[in-house]
Amino acid sequence: MNNADVHDATVGTCDPSGTGSFVTTDKGVVSTVARHDFDFRLTVPSVWLVEHSPKATMEGGQVFYSTPGGNAFFVSFGNLTELTKRFGTLDDYRDASIARIRAQADVSGRLVVSKELRIRRHRAILSNFKGITGAGGVADVWSLDLWCDVKDRYYSLYGDVVRSEEFQDFPSLFESTAQSLVCHEPPPGSSPRLWEWADLGFNTKSKVWFLELFNHSGLIEAYQASEIVLKGGSASQYQWPQRGERPLWHVRERMSARDLGKIGYDERGTLVVEPSMDARPSEQVPEVFDSITYAYSLADARGFVEFREGDGAVLKKIEGRWISVENLTHRTVGTYPNIRLSARREDIGSITVTDAHIVIRGKTGSPSR
Ligand SMILES: [Zn+2]
Repeated sequence: MNNADVHDATVGTCDPSGTGSFVTTDKGVVSTVARHDFDFRLTVPSVWLVEHSPKATMEGGQVFYSTPGGNAFFVSFGNLTELTKRFGTLDDYRDASIARIRAQADVSGRLVVSKELRIRRHRAILSNFKGITGAGGVADVWSLDLWCDVKDRYYSLYGDVVRSEEFQDFPSLFESTAQSLVCHEPPPGSSPRLWEWADLGFNTKSKVWFLELFNHSGLIEAYQASEIVLKGGSASQYQWPQRGERPLWHVRERMSARDLGKIGYDERGTLVVEPSMDARPSEQVPEVFDSITYAYSLADARGFVEFREGDGAVLKKIEGRWISVENLTHRTVGTYPNIRLSARREDIGSITVTDAHIVIRGKTGSPSR
């Protein structure tokens, strides 16, 4: 981290490095997550719902973050070269934005905060406009304007405080959220927080696809996009029930970090996930065996299968796979901690081993009991 990045980065309930922290709200303490949209990153409370404006592309648009308490944040971004044809300086642009807020909502009021920040080596202006709307309501709008010459993009963050009681300290939250903006490359010297598995899914409220990265402490990073391409890699279905009366499931495609390589956006805004370079060795099922025992690793949730001789000796072990069984008579064996599931050779129809999976099918037709 260089000095420019340290400058003014002192306020915060929200960790600008995106390395995981917490924000206090009227619902208690909630964790933050580093969210990627259109190749920029913002660290926000994980409970904020992300939506993209309908016409947003890599060229420009809006990303909205709505809070459980009814407050709204959004990031507006677009081409900087085009913008500078109309506005000579960042200050001119900021002043025009405030004038637009006044005109649009018929607000009378004034700028109560105008503060210069350094974010990712760029000059940025933090503003707070307070006033009374034509309809008699209170206007309290926080904004941050930043021009990123590296990506040739402008970014404007807005926070419209409708229910300030949702946050203990909204000004600090807005400023630290703004400080978390990664407008071009990742911050120097910041090693990405290690994730262990990823879930691919579709948010039916936001109407965006997402790839969420987890480790054992929870959700740490998320990518949103209208389209996602995963080049290779292996995945497995994962699901859990929605709590409540109505029968409903959440379903994801789950991947392991070791199966995925680089994650990034292409110029069309598609999220592209490259395959991992370290492929697992292909494995063969032994021709002769008496039984199999199998179990699931508590360390990585993957399964392993042991092929055994008549005397119980292990001939071969294939590990690190997702296991599926179909129509297979299998039973529990062993005493803790050496516990397994087991199937006899004569009850097994076929065993298919791939790079990521093992499918064990029982003899079809007459399941033995
Ligand atoms: Zn930048």
